[in-house]
Amino acid sequence: MLGIRRLLSWLAASAVLGQAALYDNIKQLPSGLSFDFIIVGGGTAGSVLANRLSENPQHNVLLIDAGPSNADVLLTMVPGYNWRLRHTQYYWNYTTIPQKGLNGRVFNYDRGHVLGGSSSVNAMFYTRGASSDYDRWANVTGDDGWSWSVSSHTCSRWRS
Ligand SMILES: Cc1cc2nc3c(=O)[nH]c(=O)nc-3n(C[C@H](O)[C@H](O)[C@H](O)COP(=O)(O)OP(=O)(O)OC[C@H]3O[C@@H](n4cnc5c(N)ncnc54)[C@H](O)[C@@H]3O)c2cc1C
Repeated sequence: MLGIRRLLSWLAASAVLGQAALYDNIKQLPSGLSFDFIIVGGGTAGSVLANRLSENPQHNVLLIDAGPSNADVLLTMVPGYNWRLRHTQYYWNYTTIPQKGLNGRVFNYDRGHVLGGSSSVNAMFYTRGASSDYDRWANVTGDDGWSWSVSSHTCSRWRS
């Protein structure tokens, strides 16, 4: 169990303060604040969620991560250098159980333990899927938003 003192808290947006703030320790969080949303896990999904929710100035959003801040951590910014962060505080440093199908070998099971989560320790490779995959998701979900013709515009926005 992680002690509460190790929690890193990010006040993503506050209608009261009208701004975002980053705290390295939960004890630094000003008292008397209340939040409409508390998101546990400031990784890829949690950070996007906090960002989208905080677009509404009426929402006070608190994003909490178990790991430290990624600010000014050079190796989280260099594509392909993520492996040098293994065995540091920025990784959960999990290993698998011995893998029967792989002659009993044990492997690193990499996950980011840092604000930004695994996106802070990933290799930063980027590729688009096959258009047929997106169209299949649109068919399966019945939501045309997944189709290649719609989602390829979103991909273009990511690149710019
Ligand atoms: C080494 C590595 C290389 C990768 N390379 C690429 C790449 O090149 N290109 C690519 O597109 N994808 C890559 N990926 C995949 C991509 O980074 C992940 O799929 C994505 O970041 C997962 O997002 P997530 O939100 O599901 O989880 P995460 O981003 O892992 O977020 C989970 C967050 O929750 C926090 N957390 C967990 N438990 C608690 C708790 N109890 N309390 C508080 N916080 C908690 C963690 O600290 C973490 O910050 C890579 C992944 C890894 C691990």
